[in-house]
Amino acid sequence: MAANQSNANKSLKAYDEHIPEIKFTKLFINGEFVDSVKGRTFETIDPRNGKVIARVAEGDKEDVDLAVKAARQAFDHGPWPRMPGYQRGRIMSKFADLIEENINELAALDTVDAGKLFSMGKALDIPQAATMLRYYAGAADKIHGEVLKMSRELHGYTLCEPVGVVGHIIPWNFPTTMFFVKVAPAMAAGCTMVVKPAEQTPLSALFYAHLAKKAGVPDGVINVVAGFGPTAGAAISSHMDVDMVSFTGSTEVGRMVMQAAATSNLKQVSLELGGKSPLIVFDDANLDTATDLALTGILFNKGEICVAGSRVYVQEGIYEEFEKKLVAKAKAWSVGDPFDPNVHQGPQAGKKQFEKILSYIEHGKREGATLLTGGERLGTEGYYIKPTIFANVKEDNVIVKDEIFGPVMSLMKFKTVEEAIKRANYTRYGLAAGILTKNIDLVNTVSRSIQAGVIWVNCYFAFDNDCPYGGYKMSGFGRDLGVDALHKYLHVKSVVTPIYNSPWL
Ligand code: NAD
Repeated sequence: MAANQSNANKSLKAYDEHIPEIKFTKLFINGEFVDSVKGRTFETIDPRNGKVIARVAEGDKEDVDLAVKAARQAFDHGPWPRMPGYQRGRIMSKFADLIEENINELAALDTVDAGKLFSMGKALDIPQAATMLRYYAGAADKIHGEVLKMSRELHGYTLCEPVGVVGHIIPWNFPTTMFFVKVAPAMAAGCTMVVKPAEQTPLSALFYAHLAKKAGVPDGVINVVAGFGPTAGAAISSHMDVDMVSFTGSTEVGRMVMQAAATSNLKQVSLELGGKSPLIVFDDANLDTATDLALTGILFNKGEICVAGSRVYVQEGIYEEFEKKLVAKAKAWSVGDPFDPNVHQGPQAGKKQFEKILSYIEHGKREGATLLTGGERLGTEGYYIKPTIFANVKEDNVIVKDEIFGPVMSLMKFKTVEEAIKRANYTRYGLAAGILTKNIDLVNTVSRSIQAGVIWVNCYFAFDNDCPYGGYKMSGFGRDLGVDALHKYLHVKSVVTPIYNSPWL
């Protein structure tokens, strides 16, 4: 682990050469970049210094109407849902190639827009977008129903058909990954779509719209409407001509999206929501690995990740030593400019998120938790927060219950397996969990007892395109990634016909 927490105020000029030219700031509707109907724009901010990067067209209800109309036309009459799957797959593969050709520029866009590490964008987010497209491109010509074993007088089979026009509403923490987690399987299924990126991070989504067109995606298939949640987002979730809304964001907004779907056209809904995931470290775990995993579990992407391991439960036999090692490593964790290749953690994505995290930290202090390290901003410019670890917290403390979505860990001690399971499940969320132990019996018991959509055993954040993610409880329903996500964008239709005089049962 390099350096310490002193880079935040280093001159940002040192990284000027990485700052990309902002080429796309208009809405993308029916294959064209256009101004918003009302001609409004909004600012997008560089979280490294709070300065304006660009003004982006602000979509509203009228713009969503136009985008939905284009998507409807492309779905009802265009070639995309009707072309053979392998042709869709070829276009998607071309799209993936173009992403790889533009890795540096795309990674830099997410760095200036979301404060993400440039090195991580280049090594992870952007290449993963290309592999996601290729994963689903390979599935596009393997979509089929099944022959049903019905009674002797009936022959039945199922067809898988695209659900239609999909509205994708996505958050700001992974602007690229969230875009493709939604768009790639929906493309393979033959759907058309309107994507609303988060208002904090619209830039890479608009660049992807440009690349989609260049790859040969027909007009109207992918429309991108930047704008705010209560206006553009709400217009999508309540639209009578949107067949499905696929949402990733907070539990509170997820509830609103579901309500809007229920009171409009009863559109299908998939919700990927918040989390407060437990990491359970048993006495037999390797201390070095366990402390590394626990730290990355909360600090990766500055804690702005729905599956962050924000509640760490350590068995009493190793607790004292674990705490000492963990705090030492947290103090050596390097926070600073996300373009600096030696930095582990950049600024929080925006001012609102930065202030929310700091207010939770103050709450934790007031609740009497012991602050082991961090607990304050770093520097005086930009939205940097020191890695923060609280101990002596109780299950009912606000910092243990609420999703903070920042670099703030609650560290707790437990005695028995039963206690660990009970406390890990004591949350309204159920997105992910981690278990660190060499004991296979413990792994089997605990992984089956935790109510969460993904369980990482002796690892954390082990993402894979083939592995579905999604929630239990108030973390939502429906799965992203894997074959499950493809099926989310498909209707199953049964076809039944009588058989006369069959010689067989
Ligand atoms: P958010 O819910 O505030 O916003 C998410 C998106 O919804 C944004 O595009 C926003 O503009 C839009 N939106 C806001 N109000 C809306 C409304 N009334 N109608 C329709 N759309 C609306 O969430 P956020 O702050 O952007 O993201 C952080 C949250 O996302 C966290 O809770 C995090 O856990 C969650 N998240 C979940 C996953 C997952 O896979 N489960 C992944 C990433 C983030």
